[in-house]
Amino acid sequence: MSVGTTLLNLQELDLALMRNQEALDGMPEVRELARKRQQYRTLKLEAQRLLGVRKDVEIDLADLTAQRAQTESMVEAAQVQAAGLTDYRAVRDFENELSGLAKRLDKLSFAIEKRTAELDEARAQETRMTKALAKLEASVRAEADRTRAKAGDLLAEREKLNARRADLVHEIPMDLFTRYEAVAKRFKGMAVERLVGNKPSACRVALQPSQMGDLKHAGEVAECPYCHRILIRPDDAAEEAQA
Ligand SMILES: [Zn+2]
Repeated sequence: MSVGTTLLNLQELDLALMRNQEALDGMPEVRELARKRQQYRTLKLEAQRLLGVRKDVEIDLADLTAQRAQTESMVEAAQVQAAGLTDYRAVRDFENELSGLAKRLDKLSFAIEKRTAELDEARAQETRMTKALAKLEASVRAEADRTRAKAGDLLAEREKLNARRADLVHEIPMDLFTRYEAVAKRFKGMAVERLVGNKPSACRVALQPSQMGDLKHAGEVAECPYCHRILIRPDDAAEEAQA
């Protein structure tokens, strides 16, 4: 293989390596996985909030229930006390007290009913959230597997490309390789062009006959007078065969 062909092959490999890197960076699976993980974190926070709401309702309900039990025993105590009453005023006071306690019991029962309904709703929300979290968790795991599988293919490809690159680099004189790398950096990997007829394949500016003459002396690996890429000329034998 001529050094010109080796350079062109190296360029092809380097472009493939760039595409490989871009593919890794831009894998939709990677973005999708990040999006799902974020969604999971958001849902986890919401689950914590729901737990807090449910605990508050439970505490409130326990407090109301205790208040009701206390009021009920107050009613009982009042009734025991009332059994021995004969005085008219004392009986009236007792009836007032009992009526107050009954109102309080009503209010407490109403609040307990309301809180119980809220607790049922909070528990239902938590159950729905637990299911949603489990579903999302499974989806995150599946996405992570897909990402690993696809990235694995890309990484294996990169390893192969790098091995072939190392072989090619070995065949190229050091100064030419250094020049190739510098030009490649300037042209985003497109460092080498082929001369086809009188046109370089990358910049495609037709060369003048005098420039064509100059290039003949430069050998197979020359420099494009326009864009200064590395210009590979067909070897003279092939050129003569074409003519
Ligand atoms: Zn050029």
